[in-house]
Amino acid sequence: MPLSYVSRFAIRPFRMSLAILSLIGYPFSMAKDNRVNLKELTLNETIKLVKELGKEQYTGKQLYKWIFKHGVHDFSAMTDLSKDFRELLEVAAVVKKLTLVQTFKSSDGTRKTVWELEPGNYIESVLIPDDDRLTLCISSQAGCPVGCQFCATGLGGFRRNLTAGEIYDQYLLTKLSLPDNTPITNIVFMGMGEPFLNYNNVIKAVQILNDTLGAGLAAHRITISTVGYVESIKRLADDHPHLGLAISLHSAVESTRKLLIPIAKKYSLASLKEAAKYFTEKTGERVTFEYLLIKDINDSIDDARALVEFIKGIPCKLNLIAFNKVGGTAFEPPSEKQLLAFRDYLYPRAPVVTLRKSMGADIGAACGQLAGRLKKPR
Ligand code: SF4
Repeated sequence: MPLSYVSRFAIRPFRMSLAILSLIGYPFSMAKDNRVNLKELTLNETIKLVKELGKEQYTGKQLYKWIFKHGVHDFSAMTDLSKDFRELLEVAAVVKKLTLVQTFKSSDGTRKTVWELEPGNYIESVLIPDDDRLTLCISSQAGCPVGCQFCATGLGGFRRNLTAGEIYDQYLLTKLSLPDNTPITNIVFMGMGEPFLNYNNVIKAVQILNDTLGAGLAAHRITISTVGYVESIKRLADDHPHLGLAISLHSAVESTRKLLIPIAKKYSLASLKEAAKYFTEKTGERVTFEYLLIKDINDSIDDARALVEFIKGIPCKLNLIAFNKVGGTAFEPPSEKQLLAFRDYLYPRAPVVTLRKSMGADIGAACGQLAGRLKKPR
């Protein structure tokens, strides 16, 4: 079809649709040329857009499936859409994607991928094989404003929130890089950033992950992790009760928690406990507490005792992880003896305790090590 034809018949509805989309608030995220980035639209938004462009709901579903299930970025390859409509899309829309920069493979099978958002701005995601699971740990922010003292992301400062499309892309592009039919079984929002500080975009990405025309992942396979924003914990329980919740506790001693996590000065342990109970009561699910053991900071038997006291009355699981050395902090990993003593104190007193292996430490992919910088791992 000659361009003049497309121009005459496509530009007019395109201009109209742009005006309508502006009015109804579609995100034109980062589309410098004003074309709509379809990676940023939920299914309902895609259908709405397609209807504005004169097509049926069914076409919206087809388009959405090409983008989010099949990972197709080129309209010409969407062969079950009419040629006219594909040409219209070329003018009105775009499907953006993250740029893959570097992949690191650990001796334990963990794989870290560095993605570029825009020149010089990097994020990371980590693929972790574990028995019959393949878990993808994804980022929700470039950097992090929270500034936890043990975390390379926090120490590197905050750059910006990720869009829903950028969050989803970490899943989609990783999935496309795997051998055929290798399923990513679980998603954890434990990469760079505090998900609750980017709540709307995280939830939008979760909806696409959950959607059968998107990734089709069951909600209970998706876990949101937080350092303890209590209002958001309750909001998640109210709005999305089927998602998993992990809380980075790291200490049940108020003064120690304040030392490690700056927002603990605002949210007391009592308020965090109340929010965790609210979540479990509202959802009927257990909450997971993450506890990073740091030598001489939170690894004593007194600390374990405080932890047992804190979790009383909360249906929960406890994940213990040994701290991994992060440049820029004086913190050290606990000794093996202390680690086991801490775990053994908890075993008869806490419901479910797992001492997790630190995966990917040799490639800077372990808990707390994601820095979003381009450098060779030690
Ligand atoms: S631990 Fe999480 S919340 Fe704290 S600085 Fe790191 S990324 Fe941010």
